[in-house]
Amino acid sequence: MSSSALTRLVADLGDIPVVTDAKIVRRRSRDFFWYSPVLNEALEGKSADLIAAPRDEADVVRIAAACARHRVPLTVRAGGTGNYGQAVPLQGGVLLDITALQTIEWAKPGLLRVGAGAKMSSIDGELQPSGWELRMHPSTKRTATIGGFVAGGSGGIGSVNFGGLREPGNILAARIVTVEEAPRLIELRGDAAQKINRAYGTTGIITALEMPLAPVWNWIDVVVVFDEFIDAVAFGYEAALADGIIKKLLSPITWPLPSYFGALKPFCPEGKSILIAMIAEPSLESFKSLLGGRGTITMEMPTDDGPGKVPLYEYTWNHTTLQVLKSDRSVTYLQCLYPHDRLMQKVAEMREMFAGEVLQHLEFIRFNGRVTCSGLPVVRYTGADRLNEIMRLHEEHEVYIANPHVFTVEDGSRYKRVDADQLGFKHEVDPYGLLNPGKMRSFASTRP
Ligand SMILES: Cc1cc2nc3c(=O)[nH]c(=O)nc-3n(C[C@H](O)[C@H](O)[C@H](O)COP(=O)(O)OP(=O)(O)OC[C@H]3O[C@@H](n4cnc5c(N)ncnc54)[C@H](O)[C@@H]3O)c2cc1C
Repeated sequence: MSSSALTRLVADLGDIPVVTDAKIVRRRSRDFFWYSPVLNEALEGKSADLIAAPRDEADVVRIAAACARHRVPLTVRAGGTGNYGQAVPLQGGVLLDITALQTIEWAKPGLLRVGAGAKMSSIDGELQPSGWELRMHPSTKRTATIGGFVAGGSGGIGSVNFGGLREPGNILAARIVTVEEAPRLIELRGDAAQKINRAYGTTGIITALEMPLAPVWNWIDVVVVFDEFIDAVAFGYEAALADGIIKKLLSPITWPLPSYFGALKPFCPEGKSILIAMIAEPSLESFKSLLGGRGTITMEMPTDDGPGKVPLYEYTWNHTTLQVLKSDRSVTYLQCLYPHDRLMQKVAEMREMFAGEVLQHLEFIRFNGRVTCSGLPVVRYTGADRLNEIMRLHEEHEVYIANPHVFTVEDGSRYKRVDADQLGFKHEVDPYGLLNPGKMRSFASTRP
């Protein structure tokens, strides 16, 4: 933006807090895209021109109107923990910090309505004393927001029971602000709410969400060690299928990945693969009896994700890769979906095909009602061509890839995408194409 355009926009925003310090704006325009050497190159130097920090929904409407009037791009930023540069503005403009919209409007048994900028740890912290919690959360629960999860994430801890956000019933309603000269507030209920699911904030600014809840259990963090990775997977599979055993997380992780696990290392003996689990206390005895003598439990303690604590789930989902990246920046990762009817066979096949190069880390999930695994393997990176070849070979062997090395909704989401007309909806709510431009590749504005 030219400095005169910037001055005009800031004047229009009135008393809404803004940040124009280029250093701060550049820093906040980033997320965790650096996990990918490919994105790290592609998104280098991309930045907004200013940050606007609405205090409430009325401020969001004023910012949206000003951006439409001046035809300025607007990218929403929440916790900034996305992995594919979802919150990185490709064409400058306004970075809208949504985090002040964090109020719980109401909560009742099984149901919550909350501001989109609320951190998931705060939501659970407030709800758990009443016996309810979010059905699922990403491993970034302590820093990420519920709106960022719905707009940019897919699933996580709890998905072994409820599947991902794309499954019907996991997002109940969303309230959005459109980006037009006279912005509208639209309530999307039921299926319609899928129009903002994993659309990277290109189909409206979400101000509030209604989310379903699950009963709280006294969750116990457990580490089980196995001589062979494949045994950790086989036991994890049995535990996932054991409907009487209440769990929230089952994550098989191959050696040598646990050797990077910092504070968890004392529970991860040299050369052993592990299964990380969260089990409801009343089910722990059944979990152990299902295990029999096949593995050894080295850690067992109540989940504690309170302030200052590092919960066990921060070694799972996309934190597994982060733990490795902390000391080895030569690796990257993939996101895969294994076919539910040949799970063990395909895990063994991939293991053999990429021995030593693709280090397996799986997450048990439900997908379309079936138990299977999402894979987030750590890959020893030797170049973009080989990375593409590894992804192609996975697909060729029916292990589906949601490519985490691209930044558009269409190219990256694959099996994580929902069946909703997000493109058509974008024409309705963002006619000038100002919302996070460049992220929905197939969109072309028909309005000047
Ligand atoms: C270590 C690590 C572990 C992770 N683990 C998981 C995991 O287990 N599961 C998972 O799904 N993801 C995971 N992620 C990705 C990410 O943390 C989550 O998807 C998280 O929920 C994003 O929330 P956020 O508040 O940080 O959103 P941001 O990164 O700020 O935003 C994400 C996207 O949503 C858009 N957006 C945010 N808020 C709004 C809004 N109110 N209205 C419209 N658009 C909005 C942004 O423009 C952006 O496109 C992980 C990432 C890291 C770095």
